[in-house]
Amino acid sequence: MNNTVYNWQLKRAMPYKYQEARPDKQIAWVFDTNKCIACQTCTVACKNAWTAGKGQEYMFWNNVETKPWGFYPLGWDVRLLEKLGPQTWDGDKYTGKTIFEAASYGEEMLGILPDEEDYQYPNIGEDEVSSAIKESDFIRMPQQPWMFYLQRICNHCTYPACLAACPRKSIYKRKEDGIVLIDQARCRGYRECVRGCPYKKPFFRAYTGKSEKCVGCYPAIEQGKQTQCVVTCIGRIRLAGFLSRYDKAREDNPIDYLVHVKKIALPLYPQFGLEPNVYYIPPINAPDAFNKQLFGPGAPKAVEAYRRAVEDKNLVGLLMLFGATEQITHSFKVDGGIGDGKIFSYDSSRAEIVRVPLKEPVIIRSEYDAERDVYRHSVT
Ligand code: SF4
Ligand code: SF4
Repeated sequence: MNNTVYNWQLKRAMPYKYQEARPDKQIAWVFDTNKCIACQTCTVACKNAWTAGKGQEYMFWNNVETKPWGFYPLGWDVRLLEKLGPQTWDGDKYTGKTIFEAASYGEEMLGILPDEEDYQYPNIGEDEVSSAIKESDFIRMPQQPWMFYLQRICNHCTYPACLAACPRKSIYKRKEDGIVLIDQARCRGYRECVRGCPYKKPFFRAYTGKSEKCVGCYPAIEQGKQTQCVVTCIGRIRLAGFLSRYDKAREDNPIDYLVHVKKIALPLYPQFGLEPNVYYIPPINAPDAFNKQLFGPGAPKAVEAYRRAVEDKNLVGLLMLFGATEQITHSFKVDGGIGDGKIFSYDSSRAEIVRVPLKEPVIIRSEYDAERDVYRHSVT
């Protein structure tokens, strides 16, 4: 029998198979879509760390796709969006159906099981823009065609569909950090998690006959460190930390500040109803309607706040903190102004981890290096 749980991203209650059981701390990520260069370093780092074995060749626990035409697996989101029907909001309250509410009789949720072929084009649509570039469009600014990169990992959802779908109760959510794991000893490879997860982040491994998914780099998290996809990110677009309960946000917690206080980082497809815990700073160049479909009704305001980031020194400081340390920041403080200030990051015992200037100093060297008697090509 379904229980009723509260979903803060939808601002309403909804049915879910199990009772509301929020973890003591919830691991969460913020990804800044505007800074990603789609180098796929995160994808390769994750692949090397976790999925280098037989039967894991097609698994990308982390992938980066180009929107609007990229999907892995093929059409993972558009197929479900179409099945779900109209997704309506009244202000910031969701009035459409979640995938749990749209389930047919006897099913836990509305789901789709991809075909083998759907996994054969991991880079489909890469770097393709939304529409054809017309003659002379390339000199008109801003350019009409748009695209952006969407970084995707398991969302370690508060209400995981994979967990609700599993008939063996092989999937569990850890109380200490909210990481969602598949118990390999219990799993029998029924693939109900693959069908149920709207983000298609559990993968079936034919070699072992079991399903696997992102493990949230739990050995790193247990040591107070951020995940592989975060620490290796070339674009410094990622930050991992702990998100407080929606009604207990702390202004000095980086993730809380970006998600709950500033509301600049938003969940992906909140309308599915899983309360996912990866939060995105929406792309500033995509149309509002597209951003709203992906990130909910708060997307235009988030874009606006991002454009005006320079007016908020906490925000500038936090954006500078992305990629500045391997450790998880539990609290932060900004001292000074935008021009000369610094952000200080602290661990759980309030020991300083790192301090970063809000504005990176620009150092211009002379073209001629007298000591070595050479000319420099790069002087900054
Ligand atoms: S994103 Fe999918 S696999 Fe990950 S916790 Fe949510 S439902 Fe499960
Ligand atoms: S490493 Fe960072 S910049 Fe490169 S693709 Fe991944 S998220 Fe984007």
